[in-house]
Amino acid sequence: MTGTAEPSLSELPLRPELKGEEPYGAPQLDVPVLLNVNENPYPPSREVIEDLSRAVGEAVATMNRYPERDALALRADLADYLGHGLTADNIWAANGSNEVMTHVLGAFGGPGRSALTFVPSYSMYPEYARNTHTAWLTVPRRADFTLDLDLALRSIAELRPDVILIASPNNPTGTATDLDQLRSLCAAAPGVIVIDEAYAEFARPGTRSALDLLPSFGNLAVSRTMSKAFAFAGGRLGYLAAAPAFIDALRIVRLPYHLSVVSQAAARAALAHAPELLQQVDALRRERDALQDWLLATGLQVAASDANFVLFGRFADRHRVWQQLLDRGVLIRETGPTGWLRVSVGTPEETAAFRTALTDILPDNE
Ligand code: PMP
Repeated sequence: MTGTAEPSLSELPLRPELKGEEPYGAPQLDVPVLLNVNENPYPPSREVIEDLSRAVGEAVATMNRYPERDALALRADLADYLGHGLTADNIWAANGSNEVMTHVLGAFGGPGRSALTFVPSYSMYPEYARNTHTAWLTVPRRADFTLDLDLALRSIAELRPDVILIASPNNPTGTATDLDQLRSLCAAAPGVIVIDEAYAEFARPGTRSALDLLPSFGNLAVSRTMSKAFAFAGGRLGYLAAAPAFIDALRIVRLPYHLSVVSQAAARAALAHAPELLQQVDALRRERDALQDWLLATGLQVAASDANFVLFGRFADRHRVWQQLLDRGVLIRETGPTGWLRVSVGTPEETAAFRTALTDILPDNE
C-alpha cells in the first residue's frame, strides 16, 4: 500500500472478494411517485406521531446511559403481537431484519459453511453470505416462481446447507410458499432454516404463517419486520421468532447495545398502534389486488402476489420501460428475472399515477 493520505479504494487492502463490489441499494431519487422499495406509502397519523414523540422524548432523557442491552420489554411486546404462545425468550430484534439476518449468518454460517436459497429471491441474501464468509448456494424456482419441492429436497440432501433462507412471501416475486412445503423443508434441513416473512401481513386470506411450525422445529426461525406493515422503514426494526436456544446463539454475535434507546422506545410506541396500522395493510391489500387485475387486463403477465408489490412484465427492454416511467415521475424497481419489473403498492393516487404513466408508454413497448 502507498503512504498517501487520500488513497483510492483500489489502493486500500480490501478483502479480495469485495474488490469491485458496489454498496447495495436502489436509487434514492427525488421524484413525485416512489414505488420502488416496497415501503408503506402512508406516513404515521397524528396520534402515532404524538405517541412516538412522547416515548422518544422520555427515552432521550436517559441517553447518557447505554440502552437496555437485551431489549426485553420490546421483545415482550413483539411476542404479544405475534401471539402463538411466544414470549420474550423466543424473540430477537435488531436494526431491520437485514441486521437480524446478519446475526443468523454470523452465528450459523461462516468459513467452511454454506447458505442456500431458492431464486429469484431477495438480492440482499448473497450479501449477508459474502459478508460472513459463508458459501452461497442457489436452487431455481419453477417458471411461476413457486417452489419445486422435489428439486428443493434433492438439493438439500446433496448440498447439505448449514443455513436455508426462504422468503415467503418472496421478494421480488410476491410468491408465498405453502405451509406443507415449508414443513417438509424444515424436516429436511440439516442445519437451521429461516422463513423470512417480511411481507406476511400482506398475504391473501388463508395463507398460514410459518409461526405455526415453531413448536415442531427447533432449527426454524421466522423473521419479520416493522418496515412494511407497521410503516416503520425509517425506524429500522426487524425481529425473528425461534426457540430460546436459537435466540441465545444470536445474542453471541450481536454487538452490545445494538438497539438504541430511541429505536426501542419508538418501536414499542408504534406497536401499541398495531390495530390502526394493520387497517392500512387491509387497504393496501385491496389496492394490490386491483393493481394486479388492471395489469392483467392490459395483457401483461403478473406474478400472483401475497406482498405489497407486484412483479409484472415481460418487456423486451425493461430498462426502457423503467426509464420512461421515471421520465413521467414514477420510480419503480428494475429487479427480478429478465424482462420483469417490480412496482410497490402505493396510495390510490400513486397507483393511479403509475397506471396513467404505464398506459401512456405501453403501446411503445409491446
Ligand atoms: N426480507 C425481505 C424479503 C425484504 O424484501 C426486505 C426489505 N426489502 C427485508 C427482508 C429487509 O427489511 P428491513 O431490513 O427493512 O427490516
